[in-house]
Amino acid sequence: MKHYNIPVFISHFGCPNACVFCNQVKINGRETDVTNEDLENILEYYLKILPKDSYKEVAFFGGTFTGISLGRQKEYLEVVKKYLDKGLVQGIRLSTRPDYINKEVMDQLKDYKVTTIELGVQSFDQNVLEKSARYYKMEVVYKSCEMIKSYGINLGIQIMPGLPGSTFETDFESAKKVVEINPLNVRVYPTLIIKDTELEKMYYSGDYKVLSMEEAIKRCRKICALIELNGIKLIRVGLQPSEDLRNGGVSVEGAFHPAFKELVDGEIYFSFLEKIKNTETNLNVEVCEKNVSKVTGINKRNKKRLKTLNIKINNSLSVDKIIVNGVKYSREKILQWELSECHE
Ligand code: SF4
Repeated sequence: MKHYNIPVFISHFGCPNACVFCNQVKINGRETDVTNEDLENILEYYLKILPKDSYKEVAFFGGTFTGISLGRQKEYLEVVKKYLDKGLVQGIRLSTRPDYINKEVMDQLKDYKVTTIELGVQSFDQNVLEKSARYYKMEVVYKSCEMIKSYGINLGIQIMPGLPGSTFETDFESAKKVVEINPLNVRVYPTLIIKDTELEKMYYSGDYKVLSMEEAIKRCRKICALIELNGIKLIRVGLQPSEDLRNGGVSVEGAFHPAFKELVDGEIYFSFLEKIKNTETNLNVEVCEKNVSKVTGINKRNKKRLKTLNIKINNSLSVDKIIVNGVKYSREKILQWELSECHE
């Protein structure tokens, strides 16, 4: 059954934190920007346009859901409960910070049948977190992840390569820690500079160097390979312009591309084919239609760089298989090659 998220973006005006990459506006006297009526309207709208026989999760994104007061969380959850009870939606997912998880919060979320909690861990490096004004300790991250799992709620983790103080190594180490925790799914958001943030000031004063597109791809391809190889679902790599850069949250600088994951995959396939090309003159590749763009790269970049790349569509191959010069390779093998380069 096809899965859909019904996105509900809830700003957290009362957030006492000041993460350097966040442009959350602080408005005194208002806790959030979505009324119960707004929430109902959003649900009604999506229920009209989404297929009836699909799995729909109401997805509270945008702020720190469990950072808002318990009473306000309850009001939102009450609205969704009516839809859950009628079988119109099948689950609730929300994003929050690791240090906003505790027993009281979890008991309520469990009572209201929350299915998935995504923790914005961002980095597993204490120094990087502190430079990004995220002042929770690693013990808190592990404790929260464990607690979410112990309540039988699906765990998602978000990480942000390229935060202040990060390096290729610290970001890759973060991915390794994600694998140790073994969440159900992961989102990887290379850090961008959003207008009106502390990070923007740090960038213009020279205190922060944003990841170039090349560096962001270099870091993400290893992270993605590691996560995928360990059987953890990557549900997003790179920000989505329509949703995540909403409300004037304009990206000033950084590795933004609407098909960032395709770029990452394209580079993984390029380096795999390049290795074969070192020993063979021509590259005669067979792939199924769905995989052609990964092999050719965006704007046929790989085709141009590899020069002797001939592609034949073979739809009897599954998406995780590719034949090069008569030899069949699995995606798993390609990802293993990708990772082996990390230690060369
Ligand atoms: S990222 Fe979340 S916790 Fe940090 S300032 Fe923004 S709303 Fe607050």
